[in-house]
Amino acid sequence: MSLGRAHMLAAAVVRETRRAGIGADALTWVGSLRRFAPDVGDIALLSVVPPPRHAHILKAFSRLPFATSIAARTASSVAVETARGVVTLHLTTPEQAGAGLVWHTGSRAHVDQLQARADRLGIRFDEGALVRPGAGPIACTTEEALYAHLELPYVAAELRSGNGEIAAAVGGRLPRLISEAHIRGDLHTHSAWSDGQNTIADMVSAARQLGYEYLAITDHSERAWSSRRLGADDVARQREEIETVRARSRDIAILHGVEVDIMHDGSLDFSDELLSGFDIVLASLHESGGHDGPRLTERYLRAIRHPLVNVITHPANRAPAHSAGYAVDFDRLFAAAAETGTAMEIDGAPAHLDMDGEVARRAVAADVTVVIDSDCHRVEALARQMQFGIGTARRGWIEPQQVLNTRGVEAVRAFVTRKRGCP
Ligand SMILES: [Zn+2]
Ligand SMILES: [Zn+2]
Repeated sequence: MSLGRAHMLAAAVVRETRRAGIGADALTWVGSLRRFAPDVGDIALLSVVPPPRHAHILKAFSRLPFATSIAARTASSVAVETARGVVTLHLTTPEQAGAGLVWHTGSRAHVDQLQARADRLGIRFDEGALVRPGAGPIACTTEEALYAHLELPYVAAELRSGNGEIAAAVGGRLPRLISEAHIRGDLHTHSAWSDGQNTIADMVSAARQLGYEYLAITDHSERAWSSRRLGADDVARQREEIETVRARSRDIAILHGVEVDIMHDGSLDFSDELLSGFDIVLASLHESGGHDGPRLTERYLRAIRHPLVNVITHPANRAPAHSAGYAVDFDRLFAAAAETGTAMEIDGAPAHLDMDGEVARRAVAADVTVVIDSDCHRVEALARQMQFGIGTARRGWIEPQQVLNTRGVEAVRAFVTRKRGCP
């Protein structure tokens, strides 16, 4: 299941469970959903409940209207079938709430490494509880307490992939992670001028409600692989509309951008003359043309070296839970991006989540500037898709100073101007 679908299903289940008053206060998402994995194996929730109430809560949960049948059951969990997938409710006790939360959040690899560490310290971390053999349970009400008992600082959920985070925690090298509070604007959104659902004015007012300082409207170019596109003839009229909205939106900067397609030969779908009129240019390779990895890499490289291209969006063009995307040579793309001052995007649309966390981690290691965007096509998704983008970035150990849209609009404009070679 894609993160987007899983997110919606989990939110609906949590809403109905809270409404029914079942373990209502301490109901949290756990598992791969909490870690922002791009594809979610199963939806898991955790509730903190005193043991005498466990049987009652599990029974009540399995009788809620969304549950069509019981798929599995233990003394502390129940998995129910719903119309849109299996949802498991795990229970933990108040004394072991932190240990239970770490246990059920996973990943398996991360928990295995914590268990090995506990063993070395003469304690046991098992079945969601911390125990000193011979002496009984060790109270562990928060995740911080669990990590402290293992002589570790807190490790953020998105980092728990078993891929070096424990060693970094031991060595005091955990990243200072990006969070929503750092984001000052969104550089990739669509309006009804292409395949978006809302007007520019509506998108701007949604961005203002999120407290953004700037918003880029970046509709699809003329021959883009998209249901609706912005024709070359539309660009001037779109700019006029942006000017009109700007005139009554002094508190938020509106960038007139474009998401231009990279054609089969690596050229761009709009002329240089047209592109140079935009405030920011995003380039995308939506259509592979049946090309293999090396040829796609060449197409990207030509775009990256183009002085008018500022951001490469969703570079793998993957579809989580469906397709892994292009087998491009990311190291070559990153070297060229760093050299030319081109940013690489982490696209928060659940159909992309691209760059993937691990790929993004390699990008910043190569000194590439990252942008985190919603690629939003309707106002309701603006906040949610940015949240997915940030979750994905956190999986990539991304820090705020590595992200272009944690900077002010003048810094964004300077980033564009620098590559254009203008004074
Ligand atoms: Zn796109
Ligand atoms: Zn887009």
